[in-house]
Amino acid sequence: MAKYWSRPAAEALKADGLRIADLDTSATPGFSGDKAMGLGLLAERATLLSGLQEKLYANGRSGDKRSVLLVLQGMDTAGKGGIVRHVIGSVDPQGVDHAAFSVPTPEEKRHHYLWRIRKALPRGGQLGVFDRSHYEDVLVVRVHNLVPPAEWEPRYDEINAFERELVDEGITLVKVAMFVSLDEQKRRLRQRLERPDKYWKFNPADIDERAYWPAYQDAYQAMVDRTSTAYAPWHVIPADRKWFSRLAVTELLIDALETLKLDWPSAKFDVEEELRRLDKA
Ligand code: AMP
Ligand code: MG
Repeated sequence: MAKYWSRPAAEALKADGLRIADLDTSATPGFSGDKAMGLGLLAERATLLSGLQEKLYANGRSGDKRSVLLVLQGMDTAGKGGIVRHVIGSVDPQGVDHAAFSVPTPEEKRHHYLWRIRKALPRGGQLGVFDRSHYEDVLVVRVHNLVPPAEWEPRYDEINAFERELVDEGITLVKVAMFVSLDEQKRRLRQRLERPDKYWKFNPADIDERAYWPAYQDAYQAMVDRTSTAYAPWHVIPADRKWFSRLAVTELLIDALETLKLDWPSAKFDVEEELRRLDKA
C-alpha cells in the first residue's frame, strides 16, 4: 500500500452502504496527506501505473486476452476529463482504448443500448477507458424519462449480467463514480464561462441540469445500490479536490493491475542462440 494511505483506496472508496446525498465531496477517504503530499505521491504512483500498464500491453501482444476497463461516471465538471488527461495520460497511448459516450446517434438509437458499449470494449492487453458508459441508460435516461420506467427498471439486472459476462471474458472492471458539490460545480462552470480556453467544455444545458441535482442523486444512489457487485464493485470518489480524485483513480488502477499478477512474457525464441547470431551479424 502506498504511503499516507491508512487503508487501500479500493476499500476506503467502496460504495457499500454509502448515502450519496450525505457524501462530503471535499473529503479524502483513507488518505491522510495534504495536497502537496498527494501530488508528490501521484507522480511516483504514475510511474508504477505506467510500468504495470506496459506489462499488460506486452502480455496482450503475446496473446493474453485479459484487459482492464475503467468506467467513469459523474455529473458535468466532476473531473472525468481530468482523469483521462492526467491519469490515463501517464501511460503509453498505444495501450489505451478510449471511448466517450454522448447522446446516442440515430444509428445507436436503432440498437439496444449495450450495442455501442460492446463495440467499444477493450481488446486483450488494453487499458480501456469509458468516459460515461452504459450507466447513462439508468442515469440521464431515468432522470429525464427518456424511456418509461418499465424499460429502464430491468436494466440494473441486465447490466449486472452483462458485466458478469465481461468479467468471465477476462475484463477487470474498475467502476468509478465521481461527485462534486453543487457549489463546486457552480465554481467550475463559472470558470468555463470566464476562461476562453474553457469555453469548449461549456454546454448551456449543464446549467439547466443543475435543477435536477436531487433526481440525479437518487439515480446515482440506485445505480451504486443495485449494480455494485462482488465482481464489479462501484467506487465513490469525492471529487472537489482534483488532486485527490486523480490519486484515488491511480491507486484503483494499480490495484486492479497488480491483482492480475502479470509477468513479462517469456521469450518465444532461444535467447542464447539469438545472441550468438547477433554477434556474427
Ligand atoms: P459530455 O460528456 O459533457 O460530452 O456530455 C455528454 C452528454 O451525453 C451528457 O449530457 C450525457 O448525459 C449525454 N448522454 C450520454 N449517454 C446518453 C444516453 N444513453 N442517453 C441520453 N443522453 C446521454
Ligand atoms: Mg459536459
